[in-house]
Amino acid sequence: FNTDLHRSEKLSIISELAASVAHEVKNPLQVTRGFLQFLTNRYSNQEKIYITMALEELDRASNIITDFLTFAKPQFESITLLDLNKELKHVEGIMMPLANLQGGRIQMQIPVHLRVKGNSSKLKQAFINVIKNSIEALSENGEINIWAYEEEDQTVIHIQDNGEGMSANELIKLGEPYFSSKTKGTGLGLMVSYRIIEVMDGSIEFKSEKGVGTEAIIRLPSAND
Ligand code: ADP
Ligand code: MG
Repeated sequence: FNTDLHRSEKLSIISELAASVAHEVKNPLQVTRGFLQFLTNRYSNQEKIYITMALEELDRASNIITDFLTFAKPQFESITLLDLNKELKHVEGIMMPLANLQGGRIQMQIPVHLRVKGNSSKLKQAFINVIKNSIEALSENGEINIWAYEEEDQTVIHIQDNGEGMSANELIKLGEPYFSSKTKGTGLGLMVSYRIIEVMDGSIEFKSEKGVGTEAIIRLPSAND
């Protein structure tokens, strides 16, 4: 009996389990958050400090789930032919409110004919984590441009922002687990994106300049039927 098959079966059981757990844990976190928020109005300033700390810890837990399992569904993951335009439209719809909250805009131009092979939830998660970083890097007049095209047998996607940018030192640490410059960062978002894109036989590259902005270039093998 093939041990590789064994291994991949085990892996998909683990990811199915993780997806169910995330699904189940998200709700009680939200409910607890609501109750705590309600309590903040009834306590003294001294006591409020503890409630605020509890809220921050809850948010930390939610952020970790967001970085890993935004789209996870408690079912086995399937690999299919994906319409890049459709997948990214879905991601844009989810990220738009967050961008607007930061006073930023997302402009997206994806041709309709691009196809890649993979798992829909995973692909969207990979993009969410990159776009979320772009949004979090924006200040006033923030803009994120997303465009894609086919080049030889690859589908190339650019995600460019005019946010705070990174130094050369920060750039080399991207994708390393727990590397974060944010007080509330998980440092896990890009690690997840790198892993997903690697599994799809693709690559992800970053260009950045401090004070100017950042550009992520994602290459995936084209899958035209
Ligand atoms: P987190 O967002 O939780 O900090 P990530 O793995 O998503 O963790 O990102 C790691 C770090 O990479 C960020 O903390 C930030 O310093 C840097 N980074 C990633 N993308 C960008 C970007 N578009 N602009 C500026 N910095 C970025
Ligand atoms: Mg992040």
